[in-house]
Amino acid sequence: MKAEIISTGTELLLGKTLNTSVFYLTGQLSGMGIEVLFHTTVGDNKDRFLGVLRQALDRSGLIFLTGGLGPTADDLTKEITSFVLDLNMNFNQQSMDSIQRFFFTKHELPPGSEKQAFFPEGSKILPNDFGTAPGAMIQKDGKYCVFLPGPPAEMKPMFDHYVLPEILKITKDHARMHVRILKVFGLGESELERKLPDLMKQSSPFLTLIDKHTYMDLRISVRDRDETAALTALGQTEKVIRQRLGNHIFGIDEETHSQVVGGLLRQEKLTLATAESCSGGLLGGRITAEAGSSDYYLGGIVSYANSAKEGMLGVKTGSLMTFGAVSEEVAKEMADGARKVLSADLGLSITGIAGPGGGTEDKPVGLVYLALADAHGVRAERKLFSGNRESIRNMVVETALHMLRLYLLDRQ
Ligand code: AMP
Ligand code: MG
Repeated sequence: MKAEIISTGTELLLGKTLNTSVFYLTGQLSGMGIEVLFHTTVGDNKDRFLGVLRQALDRSGLIFLTGGLGPTADDLTKEITSFVLDLNMNFNQQSMDSIQRFFFTKHELPPGSEKQAFFPEGSKILPNDFGTAPGAMIQKDGKYCVFLPGPPAEMKPMFDHYVLPEILKITKDHARMHVRILKVFGLGESELERKLPDLMKQSSPFLTLIDKHTYMDLRISVRDRDETAALTALGQTEKVIRQRLGNHIFGIDEETHSQVVGGLLRQEKLTLATAESCSGGLLGGRITAEAGSSDYYLGGIVSYANSAKEGMLGVKTGSLMTFGAVSEEVAKEMADGARKVLSADLGLSITGIAGPGGGTEDKPVGLVYLALADAHGVRAERKLFSGNRESIRNMVVETALHMLRLYLLDRQ
C-alpha cells in the first residue's frame, strides 16, 4: 500500500518551524516496509488544502495528515476531509470528556474546545495522551486518512501507540519493502555506477545510492509479500556487491565505521591510542561515541601546536624543522609517539591542513598525512581532500578509520 504525508501549517512554510514530523513518520513507515511516495506541505488555507487532499486521494491508499486538529479557526484538517469525503461531522462525547479532564484545574474550557470533539462520521478516534486534540483514522472507498496532531510531542506517541498497530493490521496482506543498506567507503557515486552497471539498471532488487558526505549508503530494496523470498533476493544481491566492492564495504544497516573498527580491535585484543593535529580530537570523539570503547581505546593526544607534538609525543625538532608539521615523517613520529606514551598496541595519527588558510603550493589546503604504528613499524598515507574545513576534517577521520579497519582485516 502506497502512503503519502500531508503536513499542514502555515508556520512550516515560513522557514521558522522545521518539519520534524514528516521525517519521523517517513522513518517509521519505511521501517515497516511501507513506501512513502509523496510529502506535501500546505499552509492553513482551505482551497489549497482541498487541492492537496484531492490529489492525495487520487494517488495514495494511506494518507497521513499532521496538524490542524486544534481549537482555532485555522485548524481545518477534519472539516476539509469530511467535506472532500462527503461525510458528516459527528460529536463524540467521550473525546469531549477527556478534553474536559485535561483542563480539570480550570473552570472554563478554552474557546473552541468542542471543535476538537467533532470527527468525520465513521472515524476511529485516537486518544491524545499528551495534549487535547485527539487524532482519528477514517476509511472510505478503500482509502485511509489518518489525522495526527501538529506538536511532535503529541504526534509521535500517538503514532507509535495507536496508529502503528492499526497500520500493521491494514497492510498485513500487502507486499512490503525489505531493505538492506551496505555502507561503502572510498568509492563515489560514479565509481559505484561503473562497478555495478547491471545491478543499477535492474528494478528488483532495486539499488539506490545515497551520498552521506564521507561515505555512501548503497540501499538494496525488494518489494514482496513473501519475506523469505525477499530476504533471499537481498542476500543474493548483497553477495554479488560484496564480491565487486570488497573491503570498501565497512558495514551494514545501522552499523557505524567506528563501531565496526571497535569490534575488530576487540576481536584482535588490541589497544589503540590516537594523536591528532588538524582533526583536533574528532577521531577520538568518533571512537568513544561507541559504548564499551574503553575495552580497546586507551586515549588520544590532541597535539595542535608543534610544541605539543614535541612535548607530548616526542616528535623530533629536526623532523618538524626539515619536513614540517604536515609531513609523512611527523605523522609517523606522532603515531609511534602516541603508541608509546599511552602504552598501546597501535598508534593512529592525523596531521594536515584543514584550511581555509595555511596552504602553500607544496602543501595545499586539504593535504593530510595519516600514520598507523604497531610494534613492528609505522606506515603512512598521503591524502589530498577537497571541500571546506568541516568536510576535510570529517573526511580525514573517516579515512583514518578505514586505514585502521584494513590493517585489522589484514591480520585476520
Ligand atoms: P497545530 O496542531 O497545527 O496547531 O500545530 C501546533 C504546533 O505544532 C505548530 O505551531 C508547530 O509548532 C508544531 N508543528 C505542527 N506541524 C509540525 C511538523 N510537521 N513538524 C514539527 N512541528 C510541527
Ligand atoms: Mg496548525
